[in-house]
Amino acid sequence: MSSNIELLLSCIDSYNNGEFKIKVKENETLKHHCSFRIGGNARVFAVPCDVEALIFLLREASSLNVRTYILGNGSNILFDDNGFDGVIISSSAFNKIIIDGTTIKAESGAMLSACALKAKENGLSGMECLFGIPGTIGGAVYMNAGAYGGEMSDITVKTRYIDLDTLTLSEVIGNEHCFGYRHSIFKDINAFILDTEMELKVGSVSEISLLMDDFKQRRILKQPLEFPSAGSTFKRYPGRYTAQMIDEVGLKGRSVGGAKVSEKHAGFVINTGNATSEDVLSLIEIIKSEIRKVYQIEIETEIIHVK
Ligand SMILES: Cc1cc2nc3c(=O)[nH]c(=O)nc-3n(C[C@H](O)[C@H](O)[C@H](O)COP(=O)(O)OP(=O)(O)OC[C@H]3O[C@@H](n4cnc5c(N)ncnc54)[C@H](O)[C@@H]3O)c2cc1C
Repeated sequence: MSSNIELLLSCIDSYNNGEFKIKVKENETLKHHCSFRIGGNARVFAVPCDVEALIFLLREASSLNVRTYILGNGSNILFDDNGFDGVIISSSAFNKIIIDGTTIKAESGAMLSACALKAKENGLSGMECLFGIPGTIGGAVYMNAGAYGGEMSDITVKTRYIDLDTLTLSEVIGNEHCFGYRHSIFKDINAFILDTEMELKVGSVSEISLLMDDFKQRRILKQPLEFPSAGSTFKRYPGRYTAQMIDEVGLKGRSVGGAKVSEKHAGFVINTGNATSEDVLSLIEIIKSEIRKVYQIEIETEIIHVK
């Protein structure tokens, strides 16, 4: 693998030809690319500047058998302490947001909150509840991110993507997104999401503002935003509040190394300083096992362990 990565780097160098069509960093710490602030090094961290550069990178990596992983803002990710022996491909250069009537078209690397703010400025309602989720549009579509009674599926109409198996441009419309709770078709196929169209409604800027402020305040009050985390550690269990169960089994404040069950919100595992992925995974196992013992149910993690 290592020599193939060297070959890939040299292909990228020739392709760049002195420009930065694909920005590359070697042995880049992944702590700087995720909200958990945990993880070893990526052998290569790459930021393609456009679709042509992205396809070049994907094609060359695939032909050299070099592993790739697509990264949005890293707010739902637990990178492994051993890092990633391949190429992390960041969507950050794909960040345009265009408003056309009541449609907002955003590239995958645009931040969800930036889209919500732009929608507000243009008097468009429908993204208020998503304001404050610290992810990109690509990550939000992939996860069907949601909060306070709304989710991406309510507004998403069309998503264009690169099929990673054929390296061709494709799209899904409406129901073809197969949205479910924290699920979309993109969890089942191999794809790089390029951009998404969302349909909003005309609304009053002051009412949209009030709602956004309210949701922001609720997050500040309820969530441990002062510590690095990846948001809710676990998915909701049908008919129950996972955070409440964790509290009831007495695990609020429980820690392993630098990983701790937040005292402010038991649904969050936080990094109190020097947590490792091992710490987080051990704590997750303790929580799952206690919940299993007390409630005889199996809770599922929402955060994605990348190794
Ligand atoms: C403090 C905090 C609060 C949070 N609150 C919420 C909340 O209220 N509701 C909620 O749903 N989530 C919440 N989250 C979790 C997280 O922000 C969301 O899941 C978000 O949608 C992830 O987006 P991202 O860009 O960070 O994706 P990443 O974490 O980078 O990636 C998540 C997944 O999406 C894939 N992906 C990302 N971009 C692309 C792309 N362009 N093409 C293909 N695949 C892609 C990645 O490969 C990965 O599998 C919270 C997280 C934090 C830290």
